[in-house]
Amino acid sequence: MTAKLYHQNGCTQCDAAVLDCRANADGTFDILLDRTAIYPEGGGQLSDTGYIGPARCTHAREEGGNIWHSCDRPLDIGQCVHVAADEAVRLDHTQQHTGEHMLSGLAHSMFGCTNVGFHMADDIVTVDFDKPLSAEQIAELELKINEAIQRDEPTRTVTVTPEEYETIEIRKKAKGLKGEITVVYAGGVDSCTCCGTHCQSAGQVGVLKILSHMNYKGGVRIGFVCGMRAVLSMQQDGARMDAIARRFSTSADKAVDAVIKQGDELAALKREFKRRTDMLLDYRAKELAEKAELCGKTRAVVTMEEGLEANELGFLCEKLCAHGNMVAVVLAQKGENLSYRVARSADVVLSMRELIQAVNALFGGKGGGRDDSAQGSAKLNGSAKDSVEQLKAYVYRRIKG
Ligand SMILES: [Zn+2]
Repeated sequence: MTAKLYHQNGCTQCDAAVLDCRANADGTFDILLDRTAIYPEGGGQLSDTGYIGPARCTHAREEGGNIWHSCDRPLDIGQCVHVAADEAVRLDHTQQHTGEHMLSGLAHSMFGCTNVGFHMADDIVTVDFDKPLSAEQIAELELKINEAIQRDEPTRTVTVTPEEYETIEIRKKAKGLKGEITVVYAGGVDSCTCCGTHCQSAGQVGVLKILSHMNYKGGVRIGFVCGMRAVLSMQQDGARMDAIARRFSTSADKAVDAVIKQGDELAALKREFKRRTDMLLDYRAKELAEKAELCGKTRAVVTMEEGLEANELGFLCEKLCAHGNMVAVVLAQKGENLSYRVARSADVVLSMRELIQAVNALFGGKGGGRDDSAQGSAKLNGSAKDSVEQLKAYVYRRIKG
């Protein structure tokens, strides 16, 4: 059984004796000590990192009361070593963990929410509550947590017997606990059984910033950060907002209005662009229909149209076929990308599914579709102009039968 010194007033250093050292297949070593200041992963809190003598410890885990430290080198059994957890890492994990207590405690007392899930990652902490919360309630919760941080009430830890445990009022009670039970009263706003490390008072959390909230399994999932993580996050948000404001030649407080205004203007321009493109395609369809090749009794248009998008090729084909007695083959090339559409009017008997195969073969492309309309695309090296002449000859011959 390893003595857990990390629970003693933020302890991060101690001397210890090596009880066991086992080599792993991946070149790391699992080291067992008689006592440790390195917190092992558990209770939703990430493992500390640190040093055990000269050995770098990257992770610690608890198994049946023993704490095994994953290290980069072996240590002699019986050797006395100095154990030192990385203080910045411990402070960061302790701040996130205590922040989670304060968030859960206040969400419970303010809105009757129960914490039903918790995850601490390297970049964000998430908590799942069983009830949905509005954006306004979440903003109110964030303010109340930070007011509690400013009040700086101490965290108290008390040890009780299972009989005493039954009689006390706390936010979250675990069942079936035996022996001495540790109850944590965190930052003046939460109370529960817990084995993590805690800030000695609420003020040490620094600040808690809620970064995200989303509906989750009938409740809400809230993402947040504390301490320096929150300061860095706010710095990044400020830099992003500043970049947007500069792009719009305005101040940060007017940036949102500027983005909305530009979005509205863009939507209006898109509508007008579509209206004009539609009109242009009408004219172009008329012009092409007048110059169509007469192949027996059926007219055919095979044309390369510069600058049209794939969906616009479809519109042009539709407009051409609306003239009746028509087979339309329309292509557009943008760099190495060739797009094409083939279509026929309802009064023509020719399968576009078959015709598209011939176009695919000519350009080495892929495509398919229905009997009256099909589409495809190909990658080209160079211009498709010469091949279009070949295609015209083929299509005219095919229609003439
Ligand atoms: Zn805790």
